[in-house]
Amino acid sequence: MKNLVQRLASITPPQWITTDPLTLDGLSWDALSEGRIHPLKKPETRLPACAIFPGSVNEIRQIVLLANEEKIPIIPYGGGSGLMGAALSVQPGIVLDLRRMNQLSEIDAAARSARVQAGMVLEVLDQRLNEDGFILGHDPWTLPVATIGGAISTNSVGYRAGAYGSMGDQVLGLEAVMPNGEILRTRAVSKSSTGPELKSLLIGGEGCFGIVTEATIRIFPKPEQRVFHAFLFDSFERGFGAIQRAFAKGLQPALLDFGDDDEKNPDGAVLYLVFEGNEKIVEAKNQLAMAIFLQSGGKELPAHEAETFWRDRHATARRFMANRAQLRGRGREGMYRDWIHVALPASKVLTFKNAALMIVEQHGAHLHESGLWIRPELFSMRLGIEDNGVNQAQLALQDTVDELLRLAQSMGGSMEYTHGVGVKLAPLMLEEHGYGLEIMRRIKRTLDPNNILNPGKMGL
Ligand SMILES: Cc1cc2nc3c(=O)[nH]c(=O)nc-3n(C[C@H](O)[C@H](O)[C@H](O)COP(=O)(O)OP(=O)(O)OC[C@H]3O[C@@H](n4cnc5c(N)ncnc54)[C@H](O)[C@@H]3O)c2cc1C
Repeated sequence: MKNLVQRLASITPPQWITTDPLTLDGLSWDALSEGRIHPLKKPETRLPACAIFPGSVNEIRQIVLLANEEKIPIIPYGGGSGLMGAALSVQPGIVLDLRRMNQLSEIDAAARSARVQAGMVLEVLDQRLNEDGFILGHDPWTLPVATIGGAISTNSVGYRAGAYGSMGDQVLGLEAVMPNGEILRTRAVSKSSTGPELKSLLIGGEGCFGIVTEATIRIFPKPEQRVFHAFLFDSFERGFGAIQRAFAKGLQPALLDFGDDDEKNPDGAVLYLVFEGNEKIVEAKNQLAMAIFLQSGGKELPAHEAETFWRDRHATARRFMANRAQLRGRGREGMYRDWIHVALPASKVLTFKNAALMIVEQHGAHLHESGLWIRPELFSMRLGIEDNGVNQAQLALQDTVDELLRLAQSMGGSMEYTHGVGVKLAPLMLEEHGYGLEIMRRIKRTLDPNNILNPGKMGL
């Protein structure tokens, strides 16, 4: 260990390396709480050997070469806000915290793109872009915490995804240090027809195939206009039908958030819509939305409800990060809670929901909310079960979750559309990808024969 730290200190100045147990404990976890792990599939977690905060690509390259020599894992770390345990330390290794590499290298206004280092926090980047009349197209709850590298590595989806796509959709080109220390630079162009897109190995790759050090991403002009709407439907099914009609007409809001939260909306399901962009386009979409949703049984609610929802969207993440250590525990307030975010063909969403309800009941769990985010195909459920003080409740909830995810897969869907795989969903990767998982494993073995980069994640 001493030898390792000494060798690392010859690469990165010693003040940027820590072996302090408290700091290491914090960096050994992300935002996955223990209560959301299946008790029979819980991986061992280990204190990292050390954490290092590199300042350049060249330093990262040398750290990777050293890790290969010493056969010690590297766990890339961004904001630590991942919800699936993708940044968990499951073997003692080197946590590579990217947050010192936080510079905005260039804004190309005419190309509507920005080149940015991987450790930059999304909100800091967004604020800097705002000064030049642009916005960042990726806007998750965790905007104040998550980094560019973490968002790319989870291919995360945010509030504006209806207009601008997922984080991965916004990546034009990437720079990454590969597991053998070589540097991959992909061309920062909007389209290329020169073979498979290598950047896709890093987008959603959870740090297993390479360490993203810089990205050129699309940026978008500050919206001229933003319009909010809130509608109440007497049931999830009725609102779902209305949303389907809107999409069939080509209406694509920047944000669509729809849910039947049993505590907040006992009268039915609430739909929040945000349209933003060019004034005339927003106005046209606005009129179409009003016509479709009112004709489809929607009751208009005061727009300020949607505005409040939009304005407060980052508060949860700020609260979460302030209490992260306490939230790591098992159940809270006498309940175990979890959720699923599955992608399904829109034609199967309601069938899935009905079948899922039966599964939830069979396991003695409760459904607190069914919801859609961004598009009718992206369906979520929030679940809970009373904590009876023994592991049975957690087991029952996690069995429910597994069964629901398998059901989504069996209906042609995907088990997760936004938070990634990490350790939580790793046991279901074979069902998800079939032979595709073997392809991923072979790519991983070829690129990373010593299994240095983030081992134990994504079922690799
Ligand atoms: C309260 C709350 C709300 C959330 N809301 C959303 C939401 O709206 N939408 C959404 O999609 N997610 C959401 N999340 C999840 C989380 O914010 C996202 O997954 C986010 O993209 C993670 O970014 P991060 O920088 O924190 O990454 P981390 O958690 O640090 O890391 C995530 C993964 O990426 C890898 N990684 C990190 N940096 C790099 C790099 N430079 N190169 C290679 N690999 C790297 C890590 O090893 C790990 O595998 C939420 C989480 C919380 C706690």
